[in-house]
Amino acid sequence: MNLYETFRDPKLAKRIVEKIQETAPKRDSVKICHVCGTHEWTISHYGIRSLLPENVDVIAGPGCPVCIVPAAEVDEAVDVALKGAVLTCFGDVVRVPGSSMSPLHARARGADVRVVYSVMDAVRMAEREPDREFVFFAIGFETTAPSTAAEIIKGPPRNLSFLVSHRLIPPAMELMLGIGDLQIDAFIAPGHVSTIIGLEPYEIFPRIYRMPTIVAGFEPIDVLLAIYMALRQIKDRVAALENEYGRAVRRDGNPKAKDLMKRAFNVVSGDWRGLGRIPDSKLALRDEYLRHDAHERHNVRIRSGRDIPPGCQCHLVIIGKIKPIECPLFMKACTPQKPIGSCMVSVEGTCRIWAMTRQHYGRVQPKP
Ligand code: SF4
Repeated sequence: MNLYETFRDPKLAKRIVEKIQETAPKRDSVKICHVCGTHEWTISHYGIRSLLPENVDVIAGPGCPVCIVPAAEVDEAVDVALKGAVLTCFGDVVRVPGSSMSPLHARARGADVRVVYSVMDAVRMAEREPDREFVFFAIGFETTAPSTAAEIIKGPPRNLSFLVSHRLIPPAMELMLGIGDLQIDAFIAPGHVSTIIGLEPYEIFPRIYRMPTIVAGFEPIDVLLAIYMALRQIKDRVAALENEYGRAVRRDGNPKAKDLMKRAFNVVSGDWRGLGRIPDSKLALRDEYLRHDAHERHNVRIRSGRDIPPGCQCHLVIIGKIKPIECPLFMKACTPQKPIGSCMVSVEGTCRIWAMTRQHYGRVQPKP
């Protein structure tokens, strides 16, 4: 099938791809890194990698919040559930592996684990069952953290506490630049996170690291345009922050949402699965809200866990060092139905996305 036919505006897509072909620098390799599961879905689903010049690759960084939550924090959620509290979490989170089990496995052992669509569902459940203890396992980047913050500030029911595992995207981007052999040439920054945080947190990338950085939306045309904009900067040897997603992202983001996060949380160092500790990358409850902390209420604090199961290559997939199909377990022992690593669990996980869009692997060949 002609890939362009899958685009809403095939002529425009073709025109941008031609511009990409004209603009791509003539050197061995150009690496553009995005940090967003939705961008990966668009790129994989529309076969965008296969439309790019041979020397241009787009790699997927740590853009899936479920994939990067360390096993120790999943272990804590499992622990509170096995101790008898009702664990509430988003659907993607239920199957994320801890050191020995996922929340779903805990449910099979009799724990009460419930899927919610928002933190408000957890609040309503806790209100309906005042005699039971509820815990909300708060996972997500800057996109979901404001709604957790709003409920905490508002004053949740007495029987609801929180395991806060929210993470921040810009510190992870900064970490990617420190991985010497990755040699990233440009960033595509996530549009939805940017609607909250605005443009300012990305300014260090062009200013300090000389890294072209394009904030992009999620339509395939958005992603193609962002790739073109990045290549144009690379060719012109400039580094700037550009906003391709101007229809949704304002310079100052969403001040109300930022204020909520600031009032409810401190920014602290946090572990990321497969990446280790990243300074100033995690949100933690401020002192005045510690009474809502599930760690204290349920006496749970697990310092380390087993992040990467034997044979799993998630630590390399999460930083874009390998593509999922280079993992020997991909679609053999590890499938969306029976995931082994965290990258195969969530709809935003790179391995899961590649498993679901198998026709568009591009130029990378699966391991025999
Ligand atoms: Fe881990 Fe499975 Fe991905 Fe391999 S295919 S890296 S085992 S999630």
